[in-house]
Amino acid sequence: MDIQQILDYQKQDAEIIKLERELDESPDKKIYLEMKNVVKDAQNKSNNLEKEAGELIKQYVEMKKAYDAEVRACGEIVNKDPKALKVDELEKTVSKTNQMIESISLLEKKLMAFAEHVNSVLADYDSTRKRYKEAREKYSMHKQANETLSAKLLPEIEKLKQDIKKIEAKMDPTFLQKYKQRRQDKVFPIFVPVVDKACGGCRMELPSASIDRLKRNGFLECEHCRRIIYNV
Ligand SMILES: [Zn+2]
Repeated sequence: MDIQQILDYQKQDAEIIKLERELDESPDKKIYLEMKNVVKDAQNKSNNLEKEAGELIKQYVEMKKAYDAEVRACGEIVNKDPKALKVDELEKTVSKTNQMIESISLLEKKLMAFAEHVNSVLADYDSTRKRYKEAREKYSMHKQANETLSAKLLPEIEKLKQDIKKIEAKMDPTFLQKYKQRRQDKVFPIFVPVVDKACGGCRMELPSASIDRLKRNGFLECEHCRRIIYNV
Protein backbone atom coordinates (compact mmCIF):
# COMPACT_ATOMS: atom_id res chain seq x y z
CA MET A 1 0.00 0.00 0.00
CA ASP A 2 1.41 3.36 -1.07
CA ILE A 3 0.39 5.44 1.92
CA GLN A 4 1.66 8.70 0.46
CA GLN A 5 -0.49 8.21 -2.60
CA ILE A 6 -3.56 7.55 -0.43
CA LEU A 7 -2.84 10.60 1.71
CA ASP A 8 -2.50 12.78 -1.40
CA TYR A 9 -5.77 11.41 -2.62
CA GLN A 10 -7.44 12.07 0.73
CA LYS A 11 -6.05 15.61 0.80
CA GLN A 12 -7.51 16.41 -2.61
CA ASP A 13 -10.76 14.75 -1.68
CA ALA A 14 -10.92 16.96 1.41
CA GLU A 15 -11.16 19.95 -0.96
CA ILE A 16 -14.11 18.34 -2.70
CA ILE A 17 -15.79 17.55 0.62
CA LYS A 18 -15.28 21.15 1.72
CA LEU A 19 -17.02 22.49 -1.39
CA GLU A 20 -19.75 19.86 -1.24
CA ARG A 21 -20.41 20.79 2.37
CA GLU A 22 -20.45 24.48 1.55
CA LEU A 23 -23.13 23.79 -1.00
CA ASP A 24 -25.08 21.38 1.15
CA GLU A 25 -25.02 23.55 4.25
CA SER A 26 -25.52 26.88 2.50
CA PRO A 27 -27.72 29.22 4.59
CA ASP A 28 -29.73 30.01 1.45
CA LYS A 29 -30.54 26.35 0.97
CA LYS A 30 -31.60 26.03 4.60
CA ILE A 31 -33.87 29.08 4.33
CA TYR A 32 -35.46 28.15 1.04
CA LEU A 33 -36.22 24.62 2.26
CA GLU A 34 -37.77 26.09 5.40
CA MET A 35 -39.79 28.54 3.31
CA LYS A 36 -40.97 25.74 1.09
CA ASN A 37 -42.65 24.17 4.13
CA VAL A 38 -44.04 27.49 5.34
CA VAL A 39 -45.52 28.12 1.87
CA LYS A 40 -47.08 24.66 1.81
CA ASP A 41 -48.54 25.00 5.32
CA ALA A 42 -49.87 28.50 4.67
CA GLN A 43 -51.42 27.36 1.43
CA ASN A 44 -53.20 24.45 3.13
CA LYS A 45 -54.32 26.65 5.97
CA SER A 46 -55.65 29.39 3.70
CA ASN A 47 -57.52 26.81 1.60
CA ASN A 48 -59.16 25.42 4.74
CA LEU A 49 -59.97 28.86 6.10
CA GLU A 50 -61.44 29.90 2.78
CA LYS A 51 -63.75 26.88 2.88
CA GLU A 52 -64.61 27.50 6.53
CA ALA A 53 -65.35 31.19 5.93
CA GLY A 54 -67.58 30.31 2.97
CA GLU A 55 -69.58 27.87 5.12
CA LEU A 56 -69.82 30.32 8.01
CA ILE A 57 -71.05 33.14 5.80
CA LYS A 58 -73.75 30.85 4.40
CA GLN A 59 -74.83 29.91 7.95
CA TYR A 60 -74.77 33.55 8.99
CA VAL A 61 -77.06 34.54 6.10
CA GLU A 62 -79.51 31.78 7.14
CA MET A 63 -79.47 32.89 10.77
CA LYS A 64 -79.98 36.50 9.76
CA LYS A 65 -82.96 35.48 7.63
CA ALA A 66 -84.55 33.67 10.60
CA TYR A 67 -83.89 36.66 12.83
CA ASP A 68 -85.43 39.11 10.34
CA ALA A 69 -88.52 36.91 9.97
CA GLU A 70 -88.93 36.84 13.76
CA VAL A 71 -88.58 40.63 13.97
CA ARG A 72 -91.15 41.06 11.20
CA ALA A 73 -93.63 38.71 12.90
CA CYS A 74 -93.18 40.52 16.17
CA GLY A 75 -93.78 43.88 14.45
CA GLU A 76 -97.02 42.60 12.97
CA ILE A 77 -98.36 41.65 16.40
CA VAL A 78 -97.27 44.90 17.99
CA ASN A 79 -98.98 46.89 15.23
CA LYS A 80 -102.37 45.29 15.94
CA ASP A 81 -104.91 47.70 17.43
CA PRO A 82 -105.24 46.59 21.10
CA LYS A 83 -108.70 48.11 21.31
CA ALA A 84 -109.97 45.64 18.73
CA LEU A 85 -108.90 42.70 20.86
CA LYS A 86 -110.82 40.97 23.60
CA VAL A 87 -109.21 40.83 27.07
CA ASP A 88 -108.08 37.19 26.81
CA GLU A 89 -106.76 37.81 23.26
CA LEU A 90 -104.89 40.84 24.52
CA GLU A 91 -103.32 38.83 27.36
CA LYS A 92 -102.28 36.11 24.94
CA THR A 93 -100.84 38.69 22.59
CA VAL A 94 -98.85 40.34 25.35
CA SER A 95 -97.44 37.03 26.54
CA LYS A 96 -96.61 35.97 22.96
CA THR A 97 -94.93 39.31 22.30
CA ASN A 98 -92.82 38.95 25.42
CA GLN A 99 -91.76 35.47 24.34
CA MET A 100 -90.86 36.75 20.89
CA ILE A 101 -88.86 39.66 22.27
CA GLU A 102 -86.91 37.24 24.45
CA SER A 103 -86.24 34.92 21.56
CA ILE A 104 -85.22 37.85 19.33
CA SER A 105 -82.79 39.09 21.96
CA LEU A 106 -81.30 35.60 22.23
CA LEU A 107 -80.98 35.33 18.46
CA GLU A 108 -79.36 38.74 18.39
CA LYS A 109 -76.73 37.63 20.88
CA LYS A 110 -76.06 34.46 18.89
CA LEU A 111 -75.79 36.44 15.66
CA MET A 112 -73.29 38.83 17.19
CA ALA A 113 -71.12 36.03 18.53
CA PHE A 114 -71.34 34.31 15.18
CA ALA A 115 -70.38 37.47 13.29
CA GLU A 116 -67.37 37.80 15.57
CA HIS A 117 -66.35 34.24 14.76
CA VAL A 118 -66.72 34.92 11.02
CA ASN A 119 -64.56 38.03 11.38
CA SER A 120 -61.84 36.20 13.25
CA VAL A 121 -61.74 33.47 10.58
CA LEU A 122 -61.51 36.12 7.88
CA ALA A 123 -58.73 37.93 9.75
CA ASP A 124 -56.89 34.63 10.18
CA TYR A 125 -57.31 34.02 6.46
CA ASP A 126 -55.89 37.45 5.62
CA SER A 127 -52.85 37.00 7.85
CA THR A 128 -52.26 33.50 6.47
CA ARG A 129 -52.35 34.82 2.90
CA LYS A 130 -49.91 37.52 3.90
CA ARG A 131 -47.58 34.95 5.47
CA TYR A 132 -47.89 32.81 2.34
CA LYS A 133 -46.95 35.72 0.10
CA GLU A 134 -43.96 36.70 2.25
CA ALA A 135 -42.70 33.11 2.48
CA ARG A 136 -43.04 32.72 -1.28
CA GLU A 137 -40.95 35.81 -1.90
CA LYS A 138 -38.31 34.68 0.58
CA TYR A 139 -38.31 31.20 -0.98
CA SER A 140 -37.70 32.58 -4.49
CA MET A 141 -34.98 34.91 -3.32
CA HIS A 142 -32.98 32.27 -1.42
CA LYS A 143 -33.53 29.59 -4.04
CA GLN A 144 -32.10 31.94 -6.62
CA ALA A 145 -29.10 32.71 -4.37
CA ASN A 146 -28.53 28.99 -3.84
CA GLU A 147 -28.68 28.35 -7.57
CA THR A 148 -26.03 31.02 -8.08
CA LEU A 149 -23.82 29.28 -5.52
CA SER A 150 -24.42 25.89 -7.19
CA ALA A 151 -23.53 27.34 -10.57
CA LYS A 152 -20.25 28.54 -9.08
CA LEU A 153 -19.31 25.48 -7.02
CA LEU A 154 -20.55 22.54 -9.08
CA PRO A 155 -18.08 23.03 -11.96
CA GLU A 156 -15.25 23.41 -9.38
CA ILE A 157 -16.32 20.16 -7.69
CA GLU A 158 -16.59 18.43 -11.04
CA LYS A 159 -13.10 19.53 -12.04
CA LEU A 160 -11.59 18.31 -8.75
CA LYS A 161 -13.41 14.99 -9.15
CA GLN A 162 -11.94 14.54 -12.61
CA ASP A 163 -8.50 15.30 -11.17
CA ILE A 164 -8.65 12.73 -8.38
CA LYS A 165 -9.98 10.08 -10.75
CA LYS A 166 -6.47 10.01 -12.21
CA ILE A 167 -5.09 9.00 -8.79
CA GLU A 168 -7.92 6.51 -8.25
CA ALA A 169 -6.83 4.62 -11.33
CA LYS A 170 -3.48 3.91 -9.66
CA MET A 171 -4.87 3.00 -6.23
CA ASP A 172 -5.43 -0.42 -4.69
CA PRO A 173 -9.10 -1.20 -5.49
CA THR A 174 -9.70 -2.78 -2.04
CA PHE A 175 -8.56 0.34 -0.21
CA LEU A 176 -10.40 2.56 -2.63
CA GLN A 177 -13.61 0.66 -1.99
CA LYS A 178 -13.15 0.89 1.78
CA TYR A 179 -12.42 4.59 1.40
CA LYS A 180 -15.52 5.29 -0.67
CA GLN A 181 -17.75 3.32 1.67
CA ARG A 182 -16.62 5.33 4.70
CA ARG A 183 -16.82 8.60 2.81
CA GLN A 184 -20.41 7.80 2.00
CA ASP A 185 -21.02 7.16 5.71
CA LYS A 186 -19.60 10.64 6.39
CA VAL A 187 -16.45 9.38 8.09
CA PHE A 188 -13.59 11.76 7.36
CA PRO A 189 -10.60 11.74 7.32
CA ILE A 190 -10.57 8.05 6.58
CA PHE A 191 -6.86 7.24 6.70
CA VAL A 192 -5.35 8.33 10.00
CA PRO A 193 -1.94 7.71 11.60
CA VAL A 194 -1.46 5.77 14.81
CA VAL A 195 -0.87 8.32 17.61
CA ASP A 196 0.59 7.11 20.93
CA LYS A 197 -0.78 3.59 20.41
CA ALA A 198 -4.23 5.03 19.70
CA CYS A 199 -6.40 5.63 16.65
CA GLY A 200 -5.50 9.03 15.18
CA GLY A 201 -9.19 9.61 14.40
CA CYS A 202 -11.24 8.70 17.47
CA ARG A 203 -8.30 8.46 19.94
CA MET A 204 -9.39 5.03 21.13
CA GLU A 205 -6.42 3.19 22.58
CA LEU A 206 -5.37 0.09 20.64
CA PRO A 207 -4.67 -3.25 22.36
CA SER A 208 -1.11 -4.51 21.96
CA ALA A 209 -2.23 -7.36 19.67
CA SER A 210 -3.68 -4.73 17.32
CA ILE A 211 -0.45 -2.71 17.49
CA ASP A 212 1.46 -5.84 16.50
CA ARG A 213 -0.89 -6.41 13.59
CA LEU A 214 -0.52 -2.78 12.55
CA LYS A 215 3.26 -3.14 12.56
CA ARG A 216 3.04 -6.36 10.60
CA ASN A 217 0.52 -5.24 7.96
CA GLY A 218 1.17 -1.51 7.88
CA PHE A 219 -2.48 -0.74 8.43
CA LEU A 220 -5.40 -1.59 10.71
CA GLU A 221 -9.11 -0.88 10.76
CA CYS A 222 -10.22 0.90 13.93
CA GLU A 223 -12.92 -1.18 15.58
CA HIS A 224 -14.42 1.90 17.13
CA CYS A 225 -14.67 4.44 14.28
CA ARG A 226 -13.88 2.20 11.28
CA ARG A 227 -11.09 4.52 10.09
CA ILE A 228 -8.03 2.96 8.54
CA ILE A 229 -5.03 3.49 10.78
CA TYR A 230 -1.62 3.46 9.17
CA ASN A 231 1.72 2.89 10.80
CA VAL A 232 4.16 5.78 10.94
ZN1 LIG B 1 -10.88 5.16 15.59
